[in-house]
Parts: sequence; C-alpha cells; structure tokens
Amino acid sequence: MKITDHTQQLLKELTEAHGVPGYESDIRHLIRCHLESLGRIEQDRIGSLICAAGEKGPKVMLAAHMDEIGFMINYITKEGFLKFLPLGGWWDQVLLGQRVIIKTHKGDILGVIGAKPPHMLPSEERKKVVEKKDMYIDIGASSREEVESLGVRQGDPAVPDSDFKVLANGKSYMSKAFDDRVGVAMMIDALGHFSKNPHPNQLFGVATVMEEVGTRGAKTSSEIVSPDVGIVLESDICGDVPGIKPEESDVKLGQGPCLSLFDARMIPNLKLRDLVISTADELNIPLQFSAMTGGATDGSQIHLHGIGVPTIVLGVCARHIHSHSAIIHREDYDSAIQLIIGLVGKLDAETVAGLVP
Ligand SMILES: [Zn+2]
Repeated sequence: MKITDHTQQLLKELTEAHGVPGYESDIRHLIRCHLESLGRIEQDRIGSLICAAGEKGPKVMLAAHMDEIGFMINYITKEGFLKFLPLGGWWDQVLLGQRVIIKTHKGDILGVIGAKPPHMLPSEERKKVVEKKDMYIDIGASSREEVESLGVRQGDPAVPDSDFKVLANGKSYMSKAFDDRVGVAMMIDALGHFSKNPHPNQLFGVATVMEEVGTRGAKTSSEIVSPDVGIVLESDICGDVPGIKPEESDVKLGQGPCLSLFDARMIPNLKLRDLVISTADELNIPLQFSAMTGGATDGSQIHLHGIGVPTIVLGVCARHIHSHSAIIHREDYDSAIQLIIGLVGKLDAETVAGLVP
C-alpha cells in the first residue's frame, strides 16, 4: 500500500535508516534533520542527540533510543564467508535466510545469513536450532581476497535489510527497527507539537545511542540534561500471538499505548505512573499495562541519574520485536502521542515537585 500521510512517511524514513549500536551516524543525521527546527541541538560525546525547547520550568526528558539491533563482521573465512557478532539481542531462530546490508568504506553490500544446508545434515541435526556461532553472511564471493577487494573489513557493521510496509488493513505497519524508531518518531512528533503550543517546562527530546548493548547513551545524555522527570518512549511487546496466556501478557496490538509497571532494572515512579493513568482516563485513551522480568530500557539509567529522577516508560506494542519484520498498529501510535502531549502539558513545577516519593 502507498504511503499516505506524515506519520507513515516519518516511520518509513526512521525504520529504514541504518544505525546499529556504536555505528549510528546515518540515523543520527536523519534525526538531526527532523529536530533542527524544533530546538537547540546538543550532542554527548558518544553520539546521543539532545534537542532542548523552552527556557524555564522543570526539565522533562523525552528519551528514545536511535540504535537498532544488528551485527558486526569479526572474521572473513578463506572461502569468502563473513562470520559475525550480534550487536544487541538476536534470537537464533529469526536469522537464517534474512538479508543484511554490510556498511563498508566502499559502500553498502548486500548479503544473506546462511548455515549448512539442511539437505546435507543427518536427520537428528536437522531438528536442532542452528546457533549464531555456526552461521555466516554470504555476499556471493568465493574467497577472502574477493571479499576484501569489495571493501569488507573486520569491524564493519551489518544492518537488517527490510522495507517499511503498510499492511492490508491499512492500519498495521511492518518494518525492522520499530524498536526504537517508533519511540524516536513519538519524540519528534511531541516536540513538533510543543514547538507550536505552550508547555510549562523545559523539554529535552533525546535520541540515545547504544541502548541495545546496555543503555549506554542514556547515561551520558542524562549528564547533559540533568532531568527532573524522565519519560522513556519505547516499543513494547505484544502478548496476543498464539501460545501466550493472558496472565503472561494481555497486551494486544491496536488496544492502546502501554505503560510499563516493571522491568528487570526499573520500577516506575508511582505518582508519575498514576498521573499517566488519570491523564489517559481524562482523554479517553485506552491504556495497557506491561511487565517484563527480563530486559530493561533507558529508564534504568535515567531514574538513577544524580540523586534520582522520577521516570516512567510509555510504549507502542509490537509483534515480532527484534526481527526483520515487526508489526505495530497506527491507532496505538496516535493515542500514545495524545497521551504524551497530555502528560507533558501537566508537568509544571508544582506537579513535578510533588512526584518525589
Ligand atoms: Zn528498545
């Protein structure tokens, strides 16, 4: 289906851009272009971008990570295959047969992730999951010399190759890297809104680097912002696919934005959590709740900055997260924006002072 509006265009640009952890220059440039007219731009010294708007009031940090999961080439075999390390959490089962783009000093090169062909495996081995360490990237070359002559070097990053698509119902979108380009899009849209409307605070839109390898850019960018409130904008995980019990997760695609109640490294500020819930109520926005015992977000760094920062995580849920083809729903995106705008509009000095437990 055709791209028909601003939000689809923004999500397409952001999700298709390249930027694995530590190699974010392409996506950073794109985000900078979107933020430049919306505030004063700063950068920390590992590459996170900060866009500041407003002169007085409490400092509200809207954070989303710009990096996406990917790979780094760590060895070239003499037969011309590329061995790789994961940058971020990849599930072995979503890798085989997927296309990747290797970013070399001579330009982008297409490859595919492969393993020993099943036709040549004994039947017992065929049933087993192939592990990443036994996979390789094939760029169609036949020797190490050929690979090197094409420009590939050890240390080059590889990015999932996947296009943004509007699916048949017109409301579901498929792409790579919704984690966390959907958060970046929300941050840009929220700043865009407040560039034309008053807000009782200083707003800092932050696109962090290297979240997927341990929430690194959130730590350094917090040093620049020194926030009074942290709002992390993230993708969340749908529990509506076959095989998940409602008590494990009842987060469903298209049923509203998600508020995180718990993850492995942050318990949200409860007054801020309740302010989100009451704001959603007033605006008639359906709100879903998520909790994950494994994993963490940039909130893990932000809420521990300085003497502590009241912080929450708001998200748009995605199916098949951390793959080449995740799916989100447009209504979740639109209502998440309304919720963020409503929430930020309430964060004046008195309200923020009252958030401390
Ligand atoms: Zn994420």
